[in-house]
Amino acid sequence: MVIKGKPVADAITAKLQEEVAALKEKGIVPKLKIVRVGARGDDLAYERGALSRMKTCGIEAEVLELDAEISQEAFVKELKAVNDDKSVHGILLFRPLPAQLNMDEIKYVISAEKDVDCISPLNVAKTFDGDKTGFPPCTAQAVMEILHHYEVPVLGSDVTVVGASLVVGKPLVSLLIQEEATVSNCHIRTKDTSSYTKKSDIVVSAAGCAGLVKGDWIKEGAVVIDVGINVDKDGNICGDVRFDECENKAKMITPVPGGVGSVTTSVLAKHVVQAAKQLNNI
Ligand code: NAD
Repeated sequence: MVIKGKPVADAITAKLQEEVAALKEKGIVPKLKIVRVGARGDDLAYERGALSRMKTCGIEAEVLELDAEISQEAFVKELKAVNDDKSVHGILLFRPLPAQLNMDEIKYVISAEKDVDCISPLNVAKTFDGDKTGFPPCTAQAVMEILHHYEVPVLGSDVTVVGASLVVGKPLVSLLIQEEATVSNCHIRTKDTSSYTKKSDIVVSAAGCAGLVKGDWIKEGAVVIDVGINVDKDGNICGDVRFDECENKAKMITPVPGGVGSVTTSVLAKHVVQAAKQLNNI
């Protein structure tokens, strides 16, 4: 069964539309501010999707576009102004930032209450602590939303997460452990990643490596979630998983595109609504 992201995103969106309507009755209009430095193609593509999702949910959204050459001092000043803007509930900062900007300082500047994609160390800690007032990275959370929506048993399952970045792999491991899965985490230094995936009930690949997960890496009846977004030799978007080889062995498999990526903006919207509620003590 090919499990697409759209039904998951639609279900999250429908629930949010009701929540946003209830907030608006109280005079609260949830608002996202996107902070973009420069105009990278992948940022612009994500931004279009995010703006459209916010509109569908009834969430206000604005973009602050900053010059790609902006200095650290000027950037921090701009970010502080967004933090201080009482009408803004959620801040999305596109990463990676240009080399002249120091993320080690910036991650402490973004207000944790508004940091809807887990840049602030406080949100990283809350994610690992299982504190539901925090905001895990949207992509890691999107994987959990897919597993929940398609009623994939997580508790007691053997899961392999391929990829150990702070944006996807590591927080996802933590979210899965909180739901009592047994999790193996593979990365570029893992000696034999397939020895882990072959034993797993659920395989999540977030390595950014086209064709990495082959048919014989997957056990019969496994659930395969492909987070990777890569470009193949013909210039087409593809995931990490060899879909044609794994499709018939897996019980469920996400496509790329149309899988995890299509759920991420709805998780972002969910986080903005949560931030708006928390900032208003609701
Ligand atoms: P990253 O480069 O920061 O991290 C990649 C991780 O994968 C590292 O831990 C690395 O050790 C591991 N890895 C790389 N090659 C490997 C290999 N051959 N075998 C085992 N492990 C390997 O990347 P990231 O930001 O975590 O993103 C990972 C992928 O997910 C990328 O393709 C990215 O485009 C995609 N992504 C998708 C979404 C979405 O919404 N669907 C969002 C963010 C990232």
